[in-house]
Amino acid sequence: MRYFSIEGCLYSGQAEIIPIKPETDNAGVGNAGKELVESKAASVHNYYLITKFFHMEKIVSRGIIDSYFAKLKNNLDIDVAIVGGGPSGLVAAYYLAKAGKKVALFDRKLAPGGGMWGGAMMFNDIIVQEEAMPIVRELGVSYRAYEQGTYVMDSVHTTSALIYQATKAGATLFNCYTVEDVVFKNERVAGVVVNWAPVQREGMHVDPLTIMAKAVLDGTGHDCEVSRTVARKNGIRLNTPTGDVIGERSLSVEEGERTTVENTKEVYPGLYVSGMAANGVSGSFRMGPIFGGMLMSGKKTAELILEALQ
Ligand SMILES: Cc1cc2nc3c(=O)[nH]c(=O)nc-3n(C[C@H](O)[C@H](O)[C@H](O)COP(=O)(O)OP(=O)(O)OC[C@H]3O[C@@H](n4cnc5c(N)ncnc54)[C@H](O)[C@@H]3O)c2cc1C
Repeated sequence: MRYFSIEGCLYSGQAEIIPIKPETDNAGVGNAGKELVESKAASVHNYYLITKFFHMEKIVSRGIIDSYFAKLKNNLDIDVAIVGGGPSGLVAAYYLAKAGKKVALFDRKLAPGGGMWGGAMMFNDIIVQEEAMPIVRELGVSYRAYEQGTYVMDSVHTTSALIYQATKAGATLFNCYTVEDVVFKNERVAGVVVNWAPVQREGMHVDPLTIMAKAVLDGTGHDCEVSRTVARKNGIRLNTPTGDVIGERSLSVEEGERTTVENTKEVYPGLYVSGMAANGVSGSFRMGPIFGGMLMSGKKTAELILEALQ
């Protein structure tokens, strides 16, 4: 049994107070309503009140369900589907949304942000080089100048700033979603096939849903999951030296940073790659916890997609 004060209910608008005569049958009113009314009302008023509760529990559940399903329905047919909420995906989402495109980003983790949260070996700071600083400044990230044209920033602060700015610009973020395949139509990538990440992890036989998109961005990091799936399943050649996903090479910071941006491109009609996925498909180096290349790759992808969608 739950009790609310009548004054509180009136004040917060959670209840509807209806004056009635004492002998009136309180038909249609739940027990909780009756008890509240009878014990309180006599001391305050000369007549009984019927209080209809708008149970807060129901409002919370209904609010979430209404809002979530409206959001999902609104994103069934979009301009750009971004797979992976690492730094490159988030920056791409920010610039695309800022340009007015309908963008949804899917990440299988509860907390998007990819490999940026942990800095290096869980030392939660990252390095960004001068070339990428205009992006850092535009996103309002705090930083400190370090040596040789590099800057240090807190990785948790930076990651949350990217998430905040991308969503604030209008991108919709779906976490706990795995993109398990693409929609392949008329010899181009035309959308993504999504399922709950735990469904995939548990190996449950549950069919996915589809999201149609004019462009799909593979920002899945080292594993280049989307590009790999497209190449493996459709007997097509990607725009890479071998026509397939080559796989990343070992660590070389400057080379890796340069090629991350160079390899950011459309690898198949409708399918773009950014960040480590760009280096992975083209067989370039990884680079460790320097993140300027990832940010610049995200911005470059957004520019390429915007140009293509014009
Ligand atoms: C968890 C993690 C830890 C890392 N730790 C280190 C490290 O310690 N040192 C280092 O040098 N580099 C590390 N990296 C890589 C490094 O962080 C990357 O160089 C950089 O973060 C790459 O950025 P990105 O934009 O390519 O995407 P990433 O940061 O790699 O993020 C990719 C995102 O895609 C999501 N994703 C992948 N596949 C799917 C899918 N099918 N559906 C939906 N979402 C998907 C992942 O959940 C992830 O959030 C790590 C990457 C990850 C993901």
